[in-house]
Amino acid sequence: MIELAAAVLAMIAIVAVRYLAVSGGFAWLTGRRHPGLYAGERMRGQMRREIGWSLAAAAIYGAPAGLTLYAWKQLGWTQIYTDWNAHSLLWIPLSILAYLFIHDSYFYWTHRAMHRPRLFRLMHAIHHDSRPPTAWAAMSFHPWESLSGALLIPALTFLIPIHVAALGIVLTVMTFFGVTNHIGWEIFPKRWLAGPFGAAMISASHHHRHHTDYRCNFGLYFRFWDRLCDTDRGLSGELAHAPDDDDRRRAAADGRVERPS
Ligand SMILES: [Zn+2]
Ligand SMILES: [Zn+2]
Repeated sequence: MIELAAAVLAMIAIVAVRYLAVSGGFAWLTGRRHPGLYAGERMRGQMRREIGWSLAAAAIYGAPAGLTLYAWKQLGWTQIYTDWNAHSLLWIPLSILAYLFIHDSYFYWTHRAMHRPRLFRLMHAIHHDSRPPTAWAAMSFHPWESLSGALLIPALTFLIPIHVAALGIVLTVMTFFGVTNHIGWEIFPKRWLAGPFGAAMISASHHHRHHTDYRCNFGLYFRFWDRLCDTDRGLSGELAHAPDDDDRRRAAADGRVERPS
């Protein structure tokens, strides 16, 4: 019983520290690259609320993660494995894709359901109180929304075999997208957004539009379900058209050309 409590407490602490480190890191980067984006008393108040809800969410996400850790380590009940030869090596990338696709599908449909008026007020309005969202909004959810999001990956580990390193990659991708989709500026270059990556994947420019238009762009990682169900309204022009590193390099190069020698 003590091991179970220790596993739950450890995972709550890990999720909270991971949130503070990654969101804090991107908030710091935002201050460096886009000074003033999070400035002002209103934004400071919003960020305080985002951090409060996110730390509550960390406890709700950490508890089932701790139960899963216990079930894996102490009981051997999960499908998490550590022997590279337990399954085909091809299963490593396939399992990562399977977990991400199932998570994305689950997120799309539960997120769409949460935009129905009653569920929106009950579960999802807190997340949309971030206008515009910041790096701290990554886990800014009402507890009911956190609960709906916290159970899927732990449940999958009981059903679909996954190497512990592949699970680490899934959790890293989940954390990265959760934060970068909310930072309020585009982290990927425009040429990526214009190519196959941008056609298939969601980034800040796509999710920012969900936060301004509400009725579109419900996905998490992939644009697949939004495109299939005709809810994809494309990228937020505000973010996608802002100058990126390539533009800055070109401008600097033009400046050098124009400068008299
Ligand atoms: Zn939403
Ligand atoms: Zn969001």
